[in-house]
Amino acid sequence: MATVETVNGPVDLEELGLTLIHEHFRATDEAARFQFPHLYDEDAEWEAALSDAKGVKSHGVRTIVEPSVMFLHRDVAFSKRVADETGLNVVPATGVYTYDHLPQVLANRSEDEVAAIFVHEIENGIQGTDIKAAFIKCAADEPGVTPNVEKIHRAAARASQQTGRPIMAHSRPASETGLDQMRVFTEEGVDPAKVQIAHTGDTDNLDYIEKLLDTGCWIGLDRYGLDIFLPTERRNATTLALLERGYVERMFLSQDFCSTLDWFTAEVAEILRASEVPNWSMTFLLEQVIPTLKEGGMTDEQLGQMMEENPKIWLSA
Ligand SMILES: [Zn+2]
Repeated sequence: MATVETVNGPVDLEELGLTLIHEHFRATDEAARFQFPHLYDEDAEWEAALSDAKGVKSHGVRTIVEPSVMFLHRDVAFSKRVADETGLNVVPATGVYTYDHLPQVLANRSEDEVAAIFVHEIENGIQGTDIKAAFIKCAADEPGVTPNVEKIHRAAARASQQTGRPIMAHSRPASETGLDQMRVFTEEGVDPAKVQIAHTGDTDNLDYIEKLLDTGCWIGLDRYGLDIFLPTERRNATTLALLERGYVERMFLSQDFCSTLDWFTAEVAEILRASEVPNWSMTFLLEQVIPTLKEGGMTDEQLGQMMEENPKIWLSA
């Protein structure tokens, strides 16, 4: 029976059920919180994560894929606590979330040596536990596929080649990084059907999205509520257009919500929440987006494909 690694060990694919493919129970900087712990409130972080986990569960979600890795303060003990407390499956990743910077420990290692780190987390476990990574995460953003970013992509590709595990690549559609990212993966010989280009839904440029789909990858329409990149109405129009064009078997819906995010001071975060991302939450998709998409013509079958079947297929690619 095919299984997927979770923070509570391998779970039968059929047990995944309704799945959010991209959410974070906490996204902070591990170096900052180690050095400046007075900026952080562990209890508040725990309450926020638990409240979001209970919220999604009340909507029937059974699995959260959590692509927090190095530089997003991945902490599998924290994620396991969320899973234990709520009964959710939480699917962990290995990899590095960087737009360019690499610490010396990675800068002075080759692609193969970085790949070996990822393979260790897939085969042996993460952070000294026996919790194994189910997939590999990397990122490209405004700086593009810089030499450092390319190195992490090649390392991710080689770890995928060695273990068979899928890859999730954060992208920036505004500069069409997805195509460059797919070029690197293809050069490394990765089967494009193993690759998910996250955040593709930040654009409604269908020409770009179709060019990307032509490479054979999956796409994440995974930032619902982040109006700052694209408002919901335009995300919905894109989703419905792609369904109309027959891409349902390549698409994911999610929100990239972070129960805690340390990018801004509390004051600025509050202003941004109110003015730029008023709807962003871990349940916005379930409460407001899905009903609207259904009114727009999305069928229950298409919804089930995107939120139950596709996660199983990609995770077991
Ligand atoms: Zn994310």
